[in-house]
Amino acid sequence: MRRRAESRGAPVLTVENVSKRFGGVQAVRDVSLDLHGGEVLGVIGPNGSGKTTTINLLSGAHRPGKGSIRLLGREIARRPAHAVAGLGVGRTFQNPRVFSSLTVLQNMYVPVAHRASATVRKQMAERAIEWIDLVGLGDLTHRVANELSGGQQKLVEFARVMVQQPIVVLMDEPFAGVHPLVKDVLYAQIRRSAEDLGTAFLVVSHEVPDLVALSDRFLCMAQGEVLVEGEPEDVCAHPSVIEAYLGAPLKGAA
Ligand code: ADP
Ligand code: MG
Repeated sequence: MRRRAESRGAPVLTVENVSKRFGGVQAVRDVSLDLHGGEVLGVIGPNGSGKTTTINLLSGAHRPGKGSIRLLGREIARRPAHAVAGLGVGRTFQNPRVFSSLTVLQNMYVPVAHRASATVRKQMAERAIEWIDLVGLGDLTHRVANELSGGQQKLVEFARVMVQQPIVVLMDEPFAGVHPLVKDVLYAQIRRSAEDLGTAFLVVSHEVPDLVALSDRFLCMAQGEVLVEGEPEDVCAHPSVIEAYLGAPLKGAA
């Protein structure tokens, strides 16, 4: 069963009092959170509340001014992004980043292209084919990425992350502006990976009802801080979350 604390895996990512300032802007202030193996943590909050900056901090794209980020107990807060990725933190971007002149299949290998042994390459080739099929792009395997739609490029980016067998995946607005079919694929593969592979997901989205359905747990940010955290329905019904973000209770909520 989902959404039962006792069925959650162990914490894989532990974030304590992480802060980030850009000049006069305190983008993230004292954010603490845990991410457990096999769970989907949905993150909501108004524009400018620090969601993307938090993903940038957890993925090594930014260094926190202070605080600690531990992956399986190991401090990663001040390591460069490629090292954090190599340790098992994958991420996708609000605007998908693919190598537009490479084929879908070639895009899968990019992260390790220069250092993989023959055995690793073979295993990765198998996983690449598997993931291209899982996201429904099998017929486009040898097509150049810039011939794909924006949504299909999001699927390429997601598959590329999953081929690396990450421990944690951070996704910034994966459903924004994509075709419902693409959304369904992402949704199904996020849930399947969490449940079957034990991957931990942090998913930022403004599509709140869909995110409630996807997530085991919710966190709402406001003004760079964690405002409320808990069961998705409870977070959405919280007066502070309604005031800071939702504006009104979700339709259909009890
Ligand atoms: P969200 O993703 O929740 O919309 P962001 O994390 O993008 O919010 O932004 C949080 C705050 O930090 C905003 O005020 C934004 O303008 C500021 N900010 C984010 N990134 C930078 C940056 N690279 N340089 C300066 N300010 C930034
Ligand atoms: Mg953002």
